[in-house]
Amino acid sequence: MKIGVIGTGYVGMVTAVGLADLGHQVIGTDKVTEKIEKASRGEVPIYEPGLEELLNKNLKNGNLTFDPDLEKTIRASDVLFVCVNTPQRKDGSADMTFVEGVSRCIAENLNGYKLIVEKSTVPVRTSFWIKRTISLYKKGDSSFDVASNPEFLREGSALSDFLNPERIVIGAESEKAKNWLIKIYEKYKDKIHMTNIDTSELIKHASNSFLAMKISFINLISDLCEKTDADVELVAQGMGLDSRIGKQFLRAGLGYGGSCFPKDVRALVKIGEDLGLDMSLVKAVDQINKKRIQKFINLIKKALWILTNKRLAVLGLAFKPRTDDIRNAPSIDIIRKLMEEEAYLSLYDPEAAENVKKLFPEDPPNIHYAKSAYQALEKANAALFITEWEEFEKLDLKKVKKLMDKPIVVDGRNIFEPDKMKELGFEYYCIGRK
Ligand code: NAD
Repeated sequence: MKIGVIGTGYVGMVTAVGLADLGHQVIGTDKVTEKIEKASRGEVPIYEPGLEELLNKNLKNGNLTFDPDLEKTIRASDVLFVCVNTPQRKDGSADMTFVEGVSRCIAENLNGYKLIVEKSTVPVRTSFWIKRTISLYKKGDSSFDVASNPEFLREGSALSDFLNPERIVIGAESEKAKNWLIKIYEKYKDKIHMTNIDTSELIKHASNSFLAMKISFINLISDLCEKTDADVELVAQGMGLDSRIGKQFLRAGLGYGGSCFPKDVRALVKIGEDLGLDMSLVKAVDQINKKRIQKFINLIKKALWILTNKRLAVLGLAFKPRTDDIRNAPSIDIIRKLMEEEAYLSLYDPEAAENVKKLFPEDPPNIHYAKSAYQALEKANAALFITEWEEFEKLDLKKVKKLMDKPIVVDGRNIFEPDKMKELGFEYYCIGRK
């Protein structure tokens, strides 16, 4: 079986490299030729631990090749993993234009049986539309199947998630499609959860919305903690000890960001509403999340009153640690609001600064990019922690205090212990605890 991977972004690149590493013959293609050129040279355009090494290994052993020509890739492949982006439209629904475009191209190049696998996150019923599109536009009488195999990788640990999956969800109809996918994932066959296609598509949106709901839930509880003497970290620990709840995704803070949760929550709302359902539970998840940014700005103002001409160290720009991805990162909205207040910002992130620079170019004294957290903290009137990078947990806090103009820390991710910060002489503001 020859596998074509269409779209070599975060998901497609990991999928292409991962499938090649399982021993399959894989061709990766993308409409952005530069991505394909880089990948062919063994360069990964994104920061993802371990990915570049495994890419090079599989380029060398011949399992993986890249081709900018989508039509050629389709004709040369038996299985096509569709990994294109499905961004959010204005009304909250998922934009399926790229999936439709790829489906039409597959139809026009259907030179024999092909299995088309949806890896992109798509609304339930998408397989119906892909099948209809291919049937409408195909020229010959070649047959095909559509299957769903949603991706659950987490940026920052994407490769190990692919290579050590907790589950492989497959939605397929025909025996042939099921058997081919079982063969592709043979190494993990005890992890396969086989369902029909609608179920598989819905598992992805339901999973992401549920995880986002946990985050919004604990953020709501953190608001309650702030009005009382409760400590949200201890509430979360106490809740998490119950195996029915689990301790993951119960971290109060600035809310969720990234390329998936915000859009997937809104897409699920739209899917449900289009089917006539009351989606207020899921809507509230989004509404609570949106309020986190203004709450954080209010917290900074509680510490500093007026922000105009204040020097602020902004620490952490990526939407979460161990990635350079800034799509829907809370840092972006926070920077915008602080700029409106005419504060001077010194920004630092271990990996994401270059991406943020494209949105907010260096413009001293308004925007400055520091080479280290310590450099960002020099003469700062306050330190703002936005992303919980491990590097920040290890900062020498005595040194931090000496470097700053005023030892004021506003911690949007509860990285530090309030008692210890006070002991060290910091004025410390955090989320849902005192
Ligand atoms: P991405 O934007 O990083 O990558 C998508 C790629 O598809 C881009 O490189 C784009 O150029 C390419 N593309 C678009 N149309 C094309 C076409 N017609 N032909 C060839 N290439 C084309 O997006 P991503 O983060 O990899 O996400 C892809 C899908 O996977 C989305 O549906 C997303 O919701 C889902 N997903 C993402 C993650 C994640 O953590 N990023 C995790 C799970 C699922």
